[in-house]
Amino acid sequence: MTASTMMDVPLTLDALADRAERWMGEVEVVWRKPDRAVARTTYAHVIGRARRLARALVSSGIRRGDRVATLMWNHAAHLEAYFGIPLAGAVLHTLNLRLHPDEIAYIANDAHDRVVIVDDVLLPLLAKVIAAGAKFERVIVVGDGAATVRGGSEIGATEAYEAVLAAAPEDAVLPVLAETDALGTCYTSGTTGKPKGVVYTHRSTLLHTLVIALPDALGLARKDTLLPVVPMFHVNAWGLPYSAAMTGAKLVMPGPYLDAPSLLELMTTERVTIAAGVPTIWIGIRDALDAPGAREKFPLQAGLRMVVGGAAAPEQLIRDFDRLGMHLIHAWGMTETSPVGLVSHVPPDVAVDDDAQRYFIRAKQGLPTPFVEVRVRTEHGDVPRDDKTTGEVLIRGPWIAASYVGGHTPERWTDDGYFRTGDVGRMCPRGYVQLVDRIADMIKSGGEWIASAELETYLMGHPAVKEAAVIGVAHPKWGERPLAAVVLRDGQTATQDELRAFLGAKFAKFWVPDAVVFVDAIPRTSAGKFLKTALRDQFRDRAW
Ligand code: ADP
Repeated sequence: MTASTMMDVPLTLDALADRAERWMGEVEVVWRKPDRAVARTTYAHVIGRARRLARALVSSGIRRGDRVATLMWNHAAHLEAYFGIPLAGAVLHTLNLRLHPDEIAYIANDAHDRVVIVDDVLLPLLAKVIAAGAKFERVIVVGDGAATVRGGSEIGATEAYEAVLAAAPEDAVLPVLAETDALGTCYTSGTTGKPKGVVYTHRSTLLHTLVIALPDALGLARKDTLLPVVPMFHVNAWGLPYSAAMTGAKLVMPGPYLDAPSLLELMTTERVTIAAGVPTIWIGIRDALDAPGAREKFPLQAGLRMVVGGAAAPEQLIRDFDRLGMHLIHAWGMTETSPVGLVSHVPPDVAVDDDAQRYFIRAKQGLPTPFVEVRVRTEHGDVPRDDKTTGEVLIRGPWIAASYVGGHTPERWTDDGYFRTGDVGRMCPRGYVQLVDRIADMIKSGGEWIASAELETYLMGHPAVKEAAVIGVAHPKWGERPLAAVVLRDGQTATQDELRAFLGAKFAKFWVPDAVVFVDAIPRTSAGKFLKTALRDQFRDRAW
């Protein structure tokens, strides 16, 4: 008997676009405009307009593989770009608007972005990016203010997005996409060297889209209403907009308003069932909900799920949200991993009343998603799965980068094809990974390693502590000693001795920071994570 084979249908974005338009067409896409008004449209409209954008780009000379950038908040036009640019055969390059203009210019030029689609409210930023040397052939402006900004200083001539769509020729032919074509590109943040480009293909994106929707991954379904607080310029909002379109989940986007009251209002009025963002966002939401009267003012959907990633979710945060009737899902990923690589759900054999074990597992970064392989390795080989021995986390899979644009730092890949994440972790017998720190953030004291992230996530479990970051500061005797920067919760007090005693009850004596400094805020990266480099600069010359 000869084996029969399956059809060779490519995994390309047009399949998702067709599905969203035809079968999810009436599902709502909602967003907050810069004037704070809430606007709404449908997937059918969004995809129809995305196709117009694709035809406009193709007919104006955009060729397969050309990069088209976006400089936008989360809203429907950005979703149109998410579909329209790849449907034109071009590469969607989401520029991170929170970076310094010089850095954005570097990234745009490194990617050879030909066109930029920009929010009218971000034109002042774009002017700085162009003044810093970014070279775009065309600037397409989204928003009501488009007409009034024509001929802006550094920016030169601009076109209104609506006019571009209106002029798109009906007969422009869109390219036939191949699954290995580039669909999008994102740049790593430059915290450790120059930003480096990662290119996602249609295939990698579609597989990622499919897998993150699984119940044991981020779990997205048609009955859901999704609010990606994570910006669409931060690793494509973790791939969630594509998964929402695939499943037919209603999509709610916050526009430029990421403050807790605006988010809570949107979550309430639009009946959001699942939201996603970095821990600092949820710390703010928790504190807002704990304020008197807040829970009556914002009656959220029962069982609301929040996907948290980008930095470790402190166990206390997971507990606090359970208390508030919401379920936090902890996930891990990087720009290089599309990003979702690990997700933590409690396996069914753990007793429902075993709180200690359940929270311990939920605070881990989790189990690899299907098709993703993870190893924890030292120079001696893979570490035993004993939940104790630490090593570098290595990863490979169909949506893990095989190289950077331009072939930079090939040493980030092992001979057996794994990407070195730069994260240090341990693995339990079940295969769940728990990160202890980034290699670059580990503190070496008297020849011994101290994991700064473990200290800070535990410190954030103290009832008076809102946020904490631990860094190493040069020390004449020990080489480096840990210092904790702490932001207290509103109305709470704690002393250095109290917090050191709290850590001393959990960690080895030499791990306990020599100093705790109380600060108003911890510097943040463009993605809202603690910016340890800035904190290290701040305390560099500290005399012990
Ligand atoms: P950057 O943080 O450098 O801007 P990425 O957004 O790609 O770049 O972040 C990837 C890094 O974020 C990971 O290598 C890891 O250190 C950290 N990270 C992401 N998710 C988690 C998590 N759930 N727990 C701890 N660290 C995380």
